[in-house]
Amino acid sequence: MKVVIIGAGVGGMAAACRLAKLGFEVEIYEKNGNAGGRLACMQKENFRVDIGPTLLLMPWVLRKFFDDMGMRLEDWLHLEQLHPIYRIYFEGDGQFSPYSDVKKMIEEMANISQKDADAYGRYLADYKKYYQIALEEFIEKNFDSPLDMINPKAIAALLSAGALRDVYSKTGDYFADPRIRLAFSIQSVYIGAAPTALPAVYGLIPYVEFTEGVWYPKGGLYKIAEAIRQVCYQMGVKIKFGNPVKKIMIENMQAVGVMLEGGEIVRADAVISNADLIYTYLCLIEEKDRPHMPNSKLRLLKNSCSAFMIYLGIKGAVDLPHHTFLLPKDSLKTFEEIFEKKTMPQEPGIYIANPCVHDSSLAPEGHSILYILVPVPNLSSKINWDEEAGRLRRKVFERLERIGIKELEKRIVMEERITPQNWKEMFNLEDGATFGLSPTLLQSAGFRPPNKDRKIKRLYFVGASTHPGSGIPIVLLSAQLIEKRFKEEFFAGGNR
Ligand SMILES: Cc1cc2nc3c(=O)[nH]c(=O)nc-3n(C[C@H](O)[C@H](O)[C@H](O)COP(=O)(O)OP(=O)(O)OC[C@H]3O[C@@H](n4cnc5c(N)ncnc54)[C@H](O)[C@@H]3O)c2cc1C
Repeated sequence: MKVVIIGAGVGGMAAACRLAKLGFEVEIYEKNGNAGGRLACMQKENFRVDIGPTLLLMPWVLRKFFDDMGMRLEDWLHLEQLHPIYRIYFEGDGQFSPYSDVKKMIEEMANISQKDADAYGRYLADYKKYYQIALEEFIEKNFDSPLDMINPKAIAALLSAGALRDVYSKTGDYFADPRIRLAFSIQSVYIGAAPTALPAVYGLIPYVEFTEGVWYPKGGLYKIAEAIRQVCYQMGVKIKFGNPVKKIMIENMQAVGVMLEGGEIVRADAVISNADLIYTYLCLIEEKDRPHMPNSKLRLLKNSCSAFMIYLGIKGAVDLPHHTFLLPKDSLKTFEEIFEKKTMPQEPGIYIANPCVHDSSLAPEGHSILYILVPVPNLSSKINWDEEAGRLRRKVFERLERIGIKELEKRIVMEERITPQNWKEMFNLEDGATFGLSPTLLQSAGFRPPNKDRKIKRLYFVGASTHPGSGIPIVLLSAQLIEKRFKEEFFAGGNR
């Protein structure tokens, strides 16, 4: 049986390996010249800079991928845990560095608020329960409809985790200092949403960071994409780079293959799209073939935010830890500007990766690299990036000056930028939404578009905009869920 996968992102490649192991003949068609999708890297003037992901969470998921392939993670990647996890600067109001070591974390929290530090044990005990239930009942489970979520144990857990509240408000059950509350909620932006709007269960992201740690693969995060691509080859998966898919072929409400940009038709027994889900429906399937998914319905889906990026090659070292967050004076106002008003944030929040503190292999001798990410509204905002990019860049350097990183611009020897428009073009991300479909309550778990089309037979999805959501480990879990579905549908007498 032949499966065609559209896209060689982490999700597409991991699904391909898993299905090849089950005995399927798998071909991936990828529009770009590289594997990894958003897990990308730029090589310029002897600098090697990760373009997308920089923080690896839940490394056990990556380990499980290699285990399931009959391989050892250590033979492919050298992972290091970071201590502290990162540093957060609060504009004009000090800093905070979380640790995965509980004692150190409590000491750090006590520097801000002894009362909040005292509540950390209660927080850990509660979230341990929520995490276990979320994994079993939501994350590692396929959903075909919202009704699949009707399970008393799961609903009770969801409600106590604060399903109907937002991440930021839930932190108030434990902590009072606004800086600690932000430190336990800004991670919502990793999946492209505001902590003031995201369902409180996503408060599990900081819990996972603070208990399982944040990891770094030597050589940069792109090493993960390189490793998975090699695993694909070892499993017999064919990857056709520079081969955009133009259309998914549908006959009698069944996916029967794809048409490539050049007009060639590749027939298959099943098609999996690893490309952005809204883009897949809007651009790869004719509207007449998807009466259940008309354009009007697709346009109601809510996308995540986007990101303005600056990548720098710098002469000398930069006095910053591996990961730094520079929060504005009023973070809640900044979230409101990005996510609700969809305007350019007056005072941007900024994330900086300075991986050369752990890895000199990324830059020529005597140099280092900086990766700068500013969360911004997606393209539905109509911001004119030709005009705004320069202004936003200026604000980034002014903020760096204010934490003592002076005259950095004089040391720049390489610079590249990516705007939301570039994200859209590079990976076909609808609205340039860097994290795919927004994880709102009505777009999570059983409410999120499932990894199998509800009406078109043999059409599946894998990756950030289907269940369970965005992020490398979560997308790897989505590949696990596709394997589960294929086992049920193709081997267990499944009949669609
Ligand atoms: C700036 C940024 C920072 C991030 N930081 C982190 C982080 O620190 N940690 C973390 O875990 N996650 C992070 N993420 C999220 C993570 O990168 C994504 O969730 C994950 O890589 C998505 O993988 P995917 O396989 O779902 O999709 P993608 O990576 O988007 O792969 C889809 C592939 O499909 C291809 N494609 C699209 N259309 C077609 C077509 N018509 N024909 C053929 N091919 C097509 C695309 O080119 C792409 O290669 C970040 C993302 C971004 C953008």
